[in-house]
Amino acid sequence: MSDNPDEINQRLQRLRAKAEAQLAKVEPEKEPPSALDTDELLRELHVRQIELEMQNEELHRMQVALETSYAHYLELYDFAPVGYLTLTAEGMISEINLTGAKLLGMERKHLINRCFARFIDDQDKDRWHRLFLMMMKDTVGERQCFDLPLKRADGATRHTHFDCLCWAGDNAASQLRIILADITQCRQTEELRIAAIAFETQEAMMVTDASGVILKVNRAFTETTGYTAEEAVGRMPRILKSGCHDADFYAGMWESLQCTGAWTGEIWDRRKNGEIYPNWALINAVKDNDGTVTHYVAAYVDITDQKAATDEIERLAFYDPLTELPNRRLLLDRLQQELVSSERRGLTGALLFIDLDNFKALNDTLGHNKGDLLLRQVARRLVSCVRENDTVARLGGDEFVVLLKNLSMDVGEAAAQAKISGEKIIATLNEAYQLDGHEHSSTPSIGVVLFNNHEHPADELLKRADIALYQAKAAGRNTLRFFDPKMQSAIEARVRLVRDLRRALAEKQFRLYYQKQVNCNGQVIGAEVLIRWQHPERGLVSPLDFIPAAEETALILPIGQWVLETACAQIKQWENHPQAGNLQLAVNVSARQFHQPDFVRLVCNEIEKFAINPSKLKLELTESLVLDNIADTILKMKALREIGVHFSLDDFGTGYSSLSYLTQLPLDQIKIDQSFVHNIGIKPSDAVIVQTIIGMTKNLDIEVISEGVETKGQRDFLELHGCPLYQGWLFGEPVTLEAFEKLLR
Ligand code: C2E
Ligand code: MG
Ligand code: MG
Repeated sequence: MSDNPDEINQRLQRLRAKAEAQLAKVEPEKEPPSALDTDELLRELHVRQIELEMQNEELHRMQVALETSYAHYLELYDFAPVGYLTLTAEGMISEINLTGAKLLGMERKHLINRCFARFIDDQDKDRWHRLFLMMMKDTVGERQCFDLPLKRADGATRHTHFDCLCWAGDNAASQLRIILADITQCRQTEELRIAAIAFETQEAMMVTDASGVILKVNRAFTETTGYTAEEAVGRMPRILKSGCHDADFYAGMWESLQCTGAWTGEIWDRRKNGEIYPNWALINAVKDNDGTVTHYVAAYVDITDQKAATDEIERLAFYDPLTELPNRRLLLDRLQQELVSSERRGLTGALLFIDLDNFKALNDTLGHNKGDLLLRQVARRLVSCVRENDTVARLGGDEFVVLLKNLSMDVGEAAAQAKISGEKIIATLNEAYQLDGHEHSSTPSIGVVLFNNHEHPADELLKRADIALYQAKAAGRNTLRFFDPKMQSAIEARVRLVRDLRRALAEKQFRLYYQKQVNCNGQVIGAEVLIRWQHPERGLVSPLDFIPAAEETALILPIGQWVLETACAQIKQWENHPQAGNLQLAVNVSARQFHQPDFVRLVCNEIEKFAINPSKLKLELTESLVLDNIADTILKMKALREIGVHFSLDDFGTGYSSLSYLTQLPLDQIKIDQSFVHNIGIKPSDAVIVQTIIGMTKNLDIEVISEGVETKGQRDFLELHGCPLYQGWLFGEPVTLEAFEKLLR
């Protein structure tokens, strides 16, 4: 039998109608029946009565069944494990079972005609409305399933699964029938499962109760700390304490946990094996609904490797790898801080710029390994000379800087203190060094600058200390000098000069002047080309004023190349010139230029480029240049001489050439320095030197020329003693090309 109450009702009604119709049939007829008829009728009536009673019984039985079934249905409906709910087209609850009412947390009678949306959390309301409209429009009658949290009347949230179907009766308005299943428990189980998986991550994790007793640790915790769960649980986190942090550190951590519920930062812990290591820690307080802390959860990342990498990067960035001293960058940083601090505290500081004298010679003679050994020992000695708060830095090469802090407020006294420190450094660095069994002695020069405010930036102070160092070097080395402001302007002028020199090259401001070289008969046999700088503001600048700076900055290389090229071009131009066709041009070559590895090739290139006769070109070298690297010099000279280029030894007598070297050099000419020529008739010893040089050239079979010949007396003396060639104002000053060509005519 069907349990459907509607169906049962319908059947009941049908039975009731049938019984009534039969009762109507047994009503007595208007006319009295006969005796026979009466018996018949009575029998029939009896039968009908019995039938009726049976039908009534059936009817009763059915009614009981119906009521039982209805009660059963109601029970099923109300106590179903899911909530049943019907919403009107306006979203009002028109019907709900007890489970549904319980889920919403309200009595059923209060729920009827209430808007269902009030049980949807504010943040989900939009979604609910969209879904609701969409479902109500749906005439196909398709089920829609989704999860949405329900907000109960008491404010608690239940995660709920919705199973909805829109129901449109023939003439009735649409309704939405919803089955609600509470999935909160499933959700929580799922979340716990996720949390359990998450707990076993790479990060070491620890859960404590509110008093800090460890309740749970994960596998990574054991791997990092060495404590198993059995060893850690029940104990306090202080088992990890390294002793690296003071009480203030932990007080700060607790304060943060109490105020913000979290703490994050670097913390040094101790592993079970005693090893101390750095962690990046994140600790969170877990609170209950009342806001009372119930647990702490801590996650740690072992940053030993990361820290080692950072330290290594810092070491590379801020320390000199050879001596492990701070490098220039770190020094400037510390100096910058000290400038501010000295001003605030009214104290004076000092910067000592230290350079080892003749360090290059050690490197060149004993090799770089020994040089490095010396630098390391110097670094150690310097550190031993200063207080812990002071800084010793290496700027590079053999340059060290000492930063002395907290000297006297009185500048005079501070200077005295710096001087004492500097002298102590000199004395210490003067002691003999043992370089792999080789005893070596070295001396330093020191430039000192004082500061007591940050009026001058750090790099400016460093520059000043460097200037003072130059003064110490100029004063004979192995000594100390304080910065002298007068030096400053000289240095600044030099900086300008170098800047202008670079521009001069690009803007073609150099000129060549030509000075005659003549023989005894006054015939012009050649000329020396002498460079001039046509400076846009300073006018014609002498080479004496810029060649040294050009040498130091290597600008001499392009400048020298230009001179060589211009001279070769001139030789070519004069090839068929009636007066200049046979002239030899003497070109001055600087040391740096000559010692370029490809100097020979550069000269050959110019000769080939202009297709000139190489013997028309004479290169003037100085004694010091030649002696710098005698073996290399001889090789280069021989190579060039082989193709016909001539060589003259300039400024002879001022250097330290030994006779043995002179014999080895493939020289064509020696040029007696003008200082001796000038002293002829003034300083007898110089006149003797001139005679000696001339005699020597005769013996070596080398041509001799005198430069700086200004008077006839000088010329006659030179001729008398056997010097046949002359250059000097007596015959002609250095002049422009046009003037020189005019002179020739
Ligand atoms: P230096 O090669 O010994 O040149 C001779 C210097 O003596 C020249 O000075 C010349 O002008 C000067 N002089 C010539 N005759 C007399 C005289 O009778 N009396 C006096 N008192 N001086 C005389 P300048 O031109 O100023 O050159 C100076 C130095 O500059 C040269 O000395 C040379 O060492 C260098 N120099 C000049 N031009 C060049 C060049 O193109 N390249 C290189 N590397 N150095 C050059
Ligand atoms: Mg010369
Ligand atoms: Mg000279």
